[in-house]
Amino acid sequence: MRALDLHVHTTASDGTCSPRETVWRASVQGLKAIAITDHDTILGHAEALSAGFDYGVEVVPGIEVSTKHGVSVHILGYYIENLIPLLEGIVNDRDRRNEKVAALMAADGLPVSYRRMKERFGEVIGRPHFGRVLVELGLAESVNDAFERFVGKGKKYYVPRTIIEIGTSVESIVQSGGVPVLAHPFQYKKSDAELRELIELCMEHGLRGLECRYSGYDAEQVAYLEKLAEEYGLLKTGGSDFHGDNKPHIHLGTGIAGELDVPYEWLDRLREAAYELHKRI
Ligand code: AMP
Ligand code: FE
Ligand code: FE
Ligand code: ZN
Repeated sequence: MRALDLHVHTTASDGTCSPRETVWRASVQGLKAIAITDHDTILGHAEALSAGFDYGVEVVPGIEVSTKHGVSVHILGYYIENLIPLLEGIVNDRDRRNEKVAALMAADGLPVSYRRMKERFGEVIGRPHFGRVLVELGLAESVNDAFERFVGKGKKYYVPRTIIEIGTSVESIVQSGGVPVLAHPFQYKKSDAELRELIELCMEHGLRGLECRYSGYDAEQVAYLEKLAEEYGLLKTGGSDFHGDNKPHIHLGTGIAGELDVPYEWLDRLREAAYELHKRI
């Protein structure tokens, strides 16, 4: 039986299931624990923790922060407690970016108001929300299509946001009480040497783990990542990157085709690391 999913998005960022519904789904699937790792926010934690209590699912408060090192790199932070001001600044920057995107759409005559989007989708709005609006307006067939034609990099309604450097973000997660983990390492299309360089750089800033199991990663890829984690003395984590209907091919707890299976022992190690970290800060 599958035990865990340590990479999950909710409506607190760009997922489509509320924190409570996500935890309920996890309980129905028999998952023992899930980590809520919304982009740049911890606003989903309270509701998820309370639902975890109701449904008997262990909820790990987490976050996923976008950073850059040549390409866009994501760092997960587990058992994060409070966001230091730098991380809060990311939310403000995202807000300003979103206002510009909405203004571009409105200038094209589309009935888009950022204020109304916030009323509907909540505090942390991302490009997938704009994608949904474009689908509803009949301009795109799916969120993915909206990315390809409108909100993806370089497209008509693309406005970049300020992304903090990787070392700074790893340190910010540690200062916020989180155990930093490098997310989906194959997404960066790096060679073995380049990935090692990235891991070593992150470790200099306090990286503690590597996401070894992830939706779509095959047995060979998983074995490679687990070996890397062991070699570097890093914790192993795994999760689906569930986003509800914004990434409909990804299933909570099981991945794309049932390939995801994350052992409970990995969470024990992660929790111990968080305990040690919290004793120090
Ligand atoms: P933002 O952080 O607002 O710039 O939006 C980036 C987020 O959009 C990523 O974290 C992904 O979760 C999501 N995303 C990227 N590409 C796609 C896609 N093709 N379809 C749906 N969601 C996507
Ligand atoms: Fe996302
Ligand atoms: Fe990610
Ligand atoms: Zn994610």
